Amino acid sequence: MEISIFKSKLSFILLSKILLISGILTVILTSVQLLVTYQERKESLNHFISEAVRAHIPGISHSLVRLNYYSAQDIIDGIVSYEAIGYVSITAADSQVFDDMKAGEYNPSSGSFGREFPILWEERGQVKKLAMVTIMTDGQYLYKQVKSSFYVILFSQAIKTFIVSIILLSLFYRLIISRINTIHRWLASYSPDNEFEPIRFIKGEQQKDEIDELKDAINTVGKSLRKHNIELETLVEEKTKELTKANRELEKLAYTDTLTCIANRASFFLKAEDELRRSRRLSYSLGVMMLDLDHFKSINDNYGHDAGDEVLKVVSKAMNDCLRKEDTLGRIGGEEFAIIVPGADKLGMYNLAKRLQACLEFQSFSFLTSDKKITMSIGYTKAKEKELFKSALKRADEHLYKAKNGGRNQFVTDREFVPSIVV
Ligand code: GH3
Ligand code: MG
Ligand code: MG
Repeated sequence: MEISIFKSKLSFILLSKILLISGILTVILTSVQLLVTYQERKESLNHFISEAVRAHIPGISHSLVRLNYYSAQDIIDGIVSYEAIGYVSITAADSQVFDDMKAGEYNPSSGSFGREFPILWEERGQVKKLAMVTIMTDGQYLYKQVKSSFYVILFSQAIKTFIVSIILLSLFYRLIISRINTIHRWLASYSPDNEFEPIRFIKGEQQKDEIDELKDAINTVGKSLRKHNIELETLVEEKTKELTKANRELEKLAYTDTLTCIANRASFFLKAEDELRRSRRLSYSLGVMMLDLDHFKSINDNYGHDAGDEVLKVVSKAMNDCLRKEDTLGRIGGEEFAIIVPGADKLGMYNLAKRLQACLEFQSFSFLTSDKKITMSIGYTKAKEKELFKSALKRADEHLYKAKNGGRNQFVTDREFVPSIVV
């Protein structure tokens, strides 16, 4: 985005101001110089007339005294032949002696000027005035002289103005505009996200001016903005990490039962819905099992609530160890558990129920002597086609109820789901 001297708005404004001011100055200076020239030329014309008089008056006197009027006429004709002289006349002091003579044309409105000289003659000690000689300049001569000077003066003033304007403009561009452009370009591309690069001017070691101070101030602001940005980014990164960690823990807390560390009721049901959809998509069966500890209340009552908690923890871990990784165990009530078993078949579910009960039998508890065992009742089923998960769970719960009623520490399932080896 380099702005050249000719495209810069400031250059244009400055140039127009310089031209206006120097134009006015040129007119004033030219007028003064013309006036001076006019005075000088007028002066030298007067001098020229004096010289002409000094050279020719004796000749005219002589001719008039000798009554040689032709010669006098020749002399004034000669004077008029000078370019600067427009008109010469000889007016007789006594018109009866000779007629007036003249050479050239007298035009009073042409701006010509002149002088009059008496022709005197001394006779017997007496000075007599023979005639008056009038010499007038050629009005056009002075005008032409001043006019030719006018063009020279005007041209030289214009050249001077032009050169001074160009010098001023290029100085102004180098000192101000080009540096403002550098600052502008830098600001346009500045971002606190990028590595900090200070503004630099291409110039030698010079005393600092206002624009240098402006540049230094912008550099300071830019640098500190970048520093703050880095600090902010680091802080955001740290906070994001902390937040992600806290979120993970929250998520874990939301989906995990704090006492047993297995899936809580909410997450168990979510997982169950997922598994049901998956089993239907991939066409495999889904086993659903409900488990309830027998006489758990009496443990609390006899050994205290902490003992009850210990049982819940030990039983949860033992059951989890018995399961495959694709099975899901959840605590859905106080001492009620449920299991989702993908790809369940009759024998597999039967063996699992037996294994879980056996597993429980081998657990020892700090508050119980080894002859006393904790048992549980189980009811299980298989989710039917298009059946809701809750409905399958309800059926498993009904079987569990039957197991309780049947004397506890046993498992019950649908009649058609009992494996042939049992029947
Ligand atoms: P049943 O054989 O018929 O299942 O009898 P039960 O005593 O196991 O069943 P019941 O529903 O009468 O009692 C369940 C008890 O479980 C009642 C409640 O105080 C206890 N309980 C529920 N949640 C917790 C828990 O988190 N910790 C402890 N220690 N006890 C709990
Ligand atoms: Mg119970
Ligand atoms: Mg119960």
